[in-house]
Amino acid sequence: MKNIIELIKECKHHAFDLSFTRAREWKEEKEGRVLVGYMPIYFPREILHAAGAMPVGIFGGGDHKQIIKGDAYYQSYICHIPRSIIEIVLDKHLDHIDGFIFPSICDVIRNLSGIFKQQNIGKFVKYMDFPQNFLPEIGGVFYQQEMEHVLKYIKEINGKVPTTQELNHSINLYNKNRQMIEFIYNIRQEYPWRLSIEDVYCVIRAGTVIPIEEHNAILEQICEHIKEDIGTPQDKIKVVVSGAFCEQPSLGLIRAVEEAGCYVVDDDYMLGSRMILGDIDATTNKPLEAIALSYINQSQYSSSIYDVHNPKENRLAKIVKNRGADGVIFASASFCDPSLLDAPIFQNAFNKMGIRYIAFQYSENINQYKVIKEQVGTFSDSIKLWEDEPVTT
Ligand code: SF4
Repeated sequence: MKNIIELIKECKHHAFDLSFTRAREWKEEKEGRVLVGYMPIYFPREILHAAGAMPVGIFGGGDHKQIIKGDAYYQSYICHIPRSIIEIVLDKHLDHIDGFIFPSICDVIRNLSGIFKQQNIGKFVKYMDFPQNFLPEIGGVFYQQEMEHVLKYIKEINGKVPTTQELNHSINLYNKNRQMIEFIYNIRQEYPWRLSIEDVYCVIRAGTVIPIEEHNAILEQICEHIKEDIGTPQDKIKVVVSGAFCEQPSLGLIRAVEEAGCYVVDDDYMLGSRMILGDIDATTNKPLEAIALSYINQSQYSSSIYDVHNPKENRLAKIVKNRGADGVIFASASFCDPSLLDAPIFQNAFNKMGIRYIAFQYSENINQYKVIKEQVGTFSDSIKLWEDEPVTT
């Protein structure tokens, strides 16, 4: 077993490798292998794995990529992530990726898929609609058709149609992956000092750009390490971070929140890797249906899902309660419509429920956190000093 510092270093390297080197190596190791890039938030990676393809998460350039050409494609009043993705494309970092999937989140991602199509980037470009109807016979069937469409694209490249056994095998691998990530969050709920949120982030993000088998091997070792009583407790409050599900805050900002006095015991940074709560049934002879049903019945709340019968403010409040958190930090990417439109809904509900919160906006490439750090630090202090008084800002 490797030591934890080595493991984190390895994950950090993969997580921010904007050349997607491990994916390239994986493809070159065997003929017929296919790489499929997917944009945030969620995509059922199981089906790609079963079809002989490797899913590659594309989460923008963060503060690792200077935007020179990407700005020319977009007006100034939208979020930052599409510019950095275009910059990565124009710098030819995605040339080894065969096809691209754009899960429906917002108009920006839809338009980005249009640019990919217009510029003939990759062998296929699929804008993937997710069901907003949660009836299995309507939304569930629609979702299966969307997955079949993706599989058709891959078959056109490698000629492969995954069998039921292969799909169930892949579902099992991803079930295991989600179980171990959940184990890490459960340990951190009680002992957040054993692994910082910055390290958790790197470990999970690495899993979006390396083969699932390798990520599971890393997670197994991380889980073993954090069973031990490592690290030193500090006097910090516990918070849940919500709203940062697509354009990612820079690593420095993720670190700054904890440094300013808030242990992050739950978040939606890498929401896609945690979107399905619990296992997907890997024993049926209809695996695509099982994946569709898991999305309908077991998906995490998200600004990209409109489920009128399951209000997201109640779901977030439940997470806060279950994690024993003292408050919520709403962190939204600047100009992120889905996140910013949800914020007043959450905040009105939390005012009534007495859940304390603060809100700030960021851009993936900001690396000056002084103001945010002061805001987060004040939030932490106010809760520590006036614990019984509900505080909303
Ligand atoms: S950051 Fe928000 S607005 Fe921008 S692409 Fe993502 S979901 Fe859409």
